[in-house]
Amino acid sequence: MDTIRIETSGGSYPVHIGKGIRTKWRELIDDYASYSSFFIITDEAVEAHYLSSILGEEKLSYFIVPSGEESKSFEQYHQCMTALLEAELDRKSCIISLGGGVVGDLAGFAAATYMRGIDFIQIPTTLLAHDSSVGGKTGINHELGKNLIGAFHQPAAVIYDIECLRTLPDREWRSGFSEVIKHALIHDETFLNWLVDRRKAVQNYSDEELQFMLKKGINVKGAIVKEDERETGVRAYLNFGHTLGHAIEAELGYGKVTHGEAVAIGMIFALRMSEEYFQTKLRMDELRIWFESLGLPVAVPRELDIMKLLQRMKVDKKAENKSLKFILLKEIGTPTKVSIDDEAALKLLKKSVE
Ligand code: NAD
Ligand code: ZN
Repeated sequence: MDTIRIETSGGSYPVHIGKGIRTKWRELIDDYASYSSFFIITDEAVEAHYLSSILGEEKLSYFIVPSGEESKSFEQYHQCMTALLEAELDRKSCIISLGGGVVGDLAGFAAATYMRGIDFIQIPTTLLAHDSSVGGKTGINHELGKNLIGAFHQPAAVIYDIECLRTLPDREWRSGFSEVIKHALIHDETFLNWLVDRRKAVQNYSDEELQFMLKKGINVKGAIVKEDERETGVRAYLNFGHTLGHAIEAELGYGKVTHGEAVAIGMIFALRMSEEYFQTKLRMDELRIWFESLGLPVAVPRELDIMKLLQRMKVDKKAENKSLKFILLKEIGTPTKVSIDDEAALKLLKKSVE
């Protein structure tokens, strides 16, 4: 087992990564704090695979939401709060999020707001959750946009059992891998080369390769969060590929495309834009071919109206004064935030349609 420490303004917390470590989750948690009770929040698919192994001998309370993005809703949040109150959790209780980013965001927000905030522990079960379980962003969706209601609330610990990833559907592996690639692109070309050199789909990585990759990705996220916990500066670099990615997700409708797939298209677009803006070569062609070989989409779907995409990008919650801002790369590993005029963005969007 490896342990990484994530530094925040309120102290630091451990991220444990290893194979089969969910069998000793309670031991790991008790090393850091003694809680009066635990409450698990999970989803239907994860419940079927992992809830029983985590419940152990003790009869812990739990709440199960349907699988999928729709569970990051006011309704599920409300039901979850009711379940927490009925279970009589007190301020020394701890919520355990067992699942992917959806469950993590919902459970984290529940923990941030239940009795003005109680501890929570992340037990991520998707590859994408290497990103979402670290950094303290929690929240739910509003019909006017994704993740618009939320809070910063850091977990007390993250316990990542790589064995859980083995039951992921291929599409979820790919979706999570896209965020791993993002971490490499914005921070570490050597890590990017390591990924490219594997020349295989991430689901075929050995346990050792998976563990190494997760540590690298989490370290990148941890370094950025340490510098800018509340996203007033460099944390925005984590949005590389996300300006267009979010617009595609919203236009296609959630569920039609995974978050990681949309981000993959957004990253190729941002690489193309970076090459034009900085008049440089950034391996965009090579990486596009690599993405395709991994089964990741690289082009804007033809059915989308690019004017609408442009509008979406301008009202993205990360946009400032409704002007277009993109995270671009000066070089691989060196991100920067740049203003782009509508016309230049439109021209590139046209070039990026499949
Ligand atoms: P998810 O939680 O919906 O999981 C994807 C699917 O896989 C679901 O159907 C789930 O039931 C299933 N699943 C989960 N673990 C499994 C396992 N081990 N075996 C089999 N099936 C399993 O989605 P996700 O991709 O993990 O997360 C996406 C969410 O994360 C989005 O809502 C996004 O906004 C959020 N996110 C948050 C942050 C953050 O910093 N808080 C960062 C990135 C993404
Ligand atoms: Zn993302």
